[in-house]
Amino acid sequence: MVEIKRKLASIQKIISITDVNGADFIQESTVLGWTLCVKKDEFKVGDLCVFFEIDSILPEHPIFEFMKPRKYRVKTAKFRKSIISQGLALPIHIMEAFMSPHDIPNLKEGDDVTEVIGVIKYEPPVQKTNNGSTKVPINPVAKWFLQFAWFRLIYFSIIPKKTKGNFPKFIPKTDEVRIQSMPSILQKNIGKEFYITEKLDGTSATFFYYNKLAKRNIFRLHIDKGKGFGVCSRNLRLPTPDGSYWWDIVEKFNIKETLTNYCKENNVSLAIQGEIIGSAIQKNKYKLKQGQRVFRVYNIWDITNQCYLPFAEREALCNALDMTMVPYLGTFSIEESTTIKDIIKLSMRFSTYNNQMVAEGIVCRRIDNDKISFKAINPKFLLKNDE
Ligand code: ATP
Ligand code: MN
Repeated sequence: MVEIKRKLASIQKIISITDVNGADFIQESTVLGWTLCVKKDEFKVGDLCVFFEIDSILPEHPIFEFMKPRKYRVKTAKFRKSIISQGLALPIHIMEAFMSPHDIPNLKEGDDVTEVIGVIKYEPPVQKTNNGSTKVPINPVAKWFLQFAWFRLIYFSIIPKKTKGNFPKFIPKTDEVRIQSMPSILQKNIGKEFYITEKLDGTSATFFYYNKLAKRNIFRLHIDKGKGFGVCSRNLRLPTPDGSYWWDIVEKFNIKETLTNYCKENNVSLAIQGEIIGSAIQKNKYKLKQGQRVFRVYNIWDITNQCYLPFAEREALCNALDMTMVPYLGTFSIEESTTIKDIIKLSMRFSTYNNQMVAEGIVCRRIDNDKISFKAINPKFLLKNDE
């Protein structure tokens, strides 16, 4: 849940190398927690390499010419029917093309070389939605009056200029780290119990009520239009009803009223975070009916105390607010022998939301400490969706 910038390209150690039965040109290797194919005999165990995570887009540089047919994009691939390869490892000497050769011996494990090389993150093409516009439509009469400064002053203090604002500072954005990028989390949590929820492939939503905002009055200039209630997408606040998926959910499930009433009655300030899935979102992978969308909760943030509510409280609150949590899949303990492969195996399942569909993956959180959490993306989901 902490926001960590992804190191798309970094210096890493080759942890293992094994021959693949009958393969003359490739070997299977481990880097961080990732399993990938490397060119045969290019590396030995312990070598440093330049490692590119999936979702990397490499620059159009002659060194990466071999990636041209793949549009320079590193994605999940399958070799020889059974090996799933995620990531790309190249010898450290390729850095000569991007920095002074004198500096190469100083490179060490973990160094981030994303920017030096010019790697950028692949972003899936955005689907056209009805929330593309950031400007509030202005009524023609008001438009005419807007030529007067006095009118502009009054008008824009009541009606916001834009339908999108900054994500509130008092709530953390939603995010999860991939276990393969943080393999040490296993050793650090030996003996600890985690619970698993299904990672749903939709769009992140945050609905909040903050009593401090509700108290702002008209004589202070920045009036909060939501009277304490707010709606946010993954990165932005959507201050006014705009027909977007987020406001659509608020209206269909009466979230503004329910949350506001609950918070006022109990004198609390809360942010409910979850995933909206369904029609027109992420190709509607769970096959909901046309026009149907649902909201599934995975976090509740206590704004006053700046902390997440533990699982049991979240469950109770969801019941009180008549909301549903993301599918709960059980628990497991990390043992000394637990490997990343074991966790990835847990992620290889069908969706509990629609058991005909391959699940995107899982999110695991420590039962006694929600701050410690990670995700594991189902490699079969990535293959199927060409990621
Ligand atoms: P990316 O940004 O890498 O393309 P993404 O948008 O899915 O992928 P991730 O960082 O991979 O974002 O995963 C975190 C996101 O997963 C959260 O922001 C949240 O929207 C979503 N999510 C879906 N299901 C869950 C769940 N069960 N628990 C926590 N987060 C979940
Ligand atoms: Mn997602």
